[in-house]
Amino acid sequence: MEKTLVILKPSCVQRALMGEVISRFEKKGLRLAGMKMMQLSDSILNEHYAHLKDKPFFDHVKKSMQTTPVVVQCWEGIDAAKVVRSLIGVTNGRQAAAGTIRGDFSVSAQENIVHASDSAESAEIELKRFFKKDEILEYKLSILNSLYSGDEI
Ligand code: ADP
Repeated sequence: MEKTLVILKPSCVQRALMGEVISRFEKKGLRLAGMKMMQLSDSILNEHYAHLKDKPFFDHVKKSMQTTPVVVQCWEGIDAAKVVRSLIGVTNGRQAAAGTIRGDFSVSAQENIVHASDSAESAEIELKRFFKKDEILEYKLSILNSLYSGDEI
């Protein structure tokens, strides 16, 4: 099954939304395969946000990501990257649809609660950036047959 990276950002930590956000992924039926708290360094952020390095808000985003530790998570499921992106909503919290995490909890383009990999390909790269191999744990959810039909798994 596919795995994807989620980061609970400082805006999530400060606003005491960690449990709420984790609960949404759990209730959807995703499996938590890894989770730890980290203080992000400049170098990991330069790599993670390399696609934004020419944007005027690059330094602000990096600074904001270092204001508290973050929680990095690996979630697993069929099409996990797509499923998680649909649960979090579009980047700008003011434009994100109600019912999504950003739509329900953010009014900002920057302070938007969570990061999630934008594709299965990015997820593979990003999971390696934040997790060691032995920090991703394999176990079977006993409710798997209620989450998916037999021909899906
Ligand atoms: P996403 O997080 O939805 O994949 P991007 O990769 O484009 O979006 O941007 C990474 C992060 O940079 C966003 O989650 C947000 O915190 C910040 N960001 C993006 N666009 C803006 C913007 N216009 N102004 C301020 N911060 C932004």
